[in-house]
Amino acid sequence: MAGSEAAWQAANAGLTVVIHEMRPKVGTFAHRTGDLGEMVCSNSFRSDDHEQNAVGLLHWEMRAANGLIMQTAHQHRLPAGGALAVDRDPFAASVTAVLRSHPNVRISHEEITELPDQGQWIIATGPLTSGALAEAIRIETGADQLAFFDAIAPIVYAETVNMDVAWMQSRYDKGETEDERTAYLNCPMTKDQYEAFIDALLAAEKTEFKEGETAGYFDGCLPIEVMAERGRETLRFGPMKPVGLTNAHDPATKAYAVVQLRRDNALGTLYNIVGFQTKMKYGAQKAVFKMIPGLEDAEFARLGGIHRNTFINSPRLLDHRMRLKSRPHIRFAGQITGVEGYVESAAMGLLAARLAVAEAQGIDLPPVPNTTAMGALVTHITGGADARTFQPMNVNFGLFPPLEGTGIKGGRRGRKERYKAYTDRAKADWTAWLAQTETVPA
Ligand SMILES: Cc1cc2nc3c(=O)[nH]c(=O)nc-3n(C[C@H](O)[C@H](O)[C@H](O)COP(=O)(O)OP(=O)(O)OC[C@H]3O[C@@H](n4cnc5c(N)ncnc54)[C@H](O)[C@@H]3O)c2cc1C
Repeated sequence: MAGSEAAWQAANAGLTVVIHEMRPKVGTFAHRTGDLGEMVCSNSFRSDDHEQNAVGLLHWEMRAANGLIMQTAHQHRLPAGGALAVDRDPFAASVTAVLRSHPNVRISHEEITELPDQGQWIIATGPLTSGALAEAIRIETGADQLAFFDAIAPIVYAETVNMDVAWMQSRYDKGETEDERTAYLNCPMTKDQYEAFIDALLAAEKTEFKEGETAGYFDGCLPIEVMAERGRETLRFGPMKPVGLTNAHDPATKAYAVVQLRRDNALGTLYNIVGFQTKMKYGAQKAVFKMIPGLEDAEFARLGGIHRNTFINSPRLLDHRMRLKSRPHIRFAGQITGVEGYVESAAMGLLAARLAVAEAQGIDLPPVPNTTAMGALVTHITGGADARTFQPMNVNFGLFPPLEGTGIKGGRRGRKERYKAYTDRAKADWTAWLAQTETVPA
């Protein structure tokens, strides 16, 4: 996704591009063909609603930038209500044919096994990056800067947490500043609530690991339901331990267990539920997590999951122009940068190419405004997210700077108007930013 989009953007701007695609010579456990743009699982690019949905807005922004993936998706669209679903094989065949016939593009079917020393490169090798290249990246960046699995805890919109129940406090009030001492949202549980929660966790429907997904995973982090299976008290002595916390609403009563949510972005609009990585099915997650006091009406920017996924610690390793700080002639794009999903991956390919083209043309582009979907995502992965706990992210409105008069206490009233205002602002800002890349044909 990202590589095809990047090649298209750079080639249209007049650069000569070589796509190095290892398939079909070297395969992955998820791909079936040697085509570019192969969709490995679902055939959906998710919502196409560019007024009310952040991923739909990203569609719009990519279309405005003459994006190949979006154009081709529309050509092969299947009926799917508000979603943009496609006929996957003709879609991938079209992407491949368009790039193969582009005068500025050459496709080379071989595996890249080392980080190149010269030229401008965009590494967009995805969640299933081959072992040899992953090893080369690991050597360059350090072993703990490259992950082979994501372990995503659910992420909640801060404004949907009931602060009449939850309170802000770091365990043992640790931290040098007031901001650090109040870095967590805490949700208390009584014994009865805890027991009911464990019962629900154990009964919830789970997703099975796919072939090739499990190796090495259990060393790292256990899904919350697996911890619960190991003993009813395991969570109370693990991520739900109640020690070092005093309920600001009821200081005299000691909670039996506490669920902690940690700030997930610099804006403070998103919080992740600490230690709650899970293989529960999405519907089950919503039902179980809403049993947590304070989260009864919570809305999720993304639900939890654990997958095979190669990704780098972008907030630490990449600069704002998506360049590897230690080797600026190499950019990263796509899912390997810690975005998640076909659309987000293609979007990061589009952006990386436009940034590379501007650099090749000596144009000093301003940063992409973080009020746009594209800018919100790239700002998140290249600095907005906390590098210490970085996990892959979908595009969502929690990544956008709040509009004036809304934010953590903004409530959910007027959400439709608010999202429309977000998307109007994004479209204006994206159009203005794109105009500055005008030497890049759009
Ligand atoms: C099993 C699975 C299921 C998924 N399901 C979904 C889903 O339903 N919906 C969704 O939105 N997202 C899904 N994803 C995520 C999806 O893979 C990404 O969103 C998207 O394909 C990533 O785009 P990308 O361009 O970063 O990587 P890819 O589309 O994977 O492209 C990377 C390309 O690099 C090639 N490559 C890898 N290493 C090398 C090398 N060393 N040399 C040369 N070429 C190399 C690969 O063959 C591949 O073609 C899934 C991922 C997996 C692993």
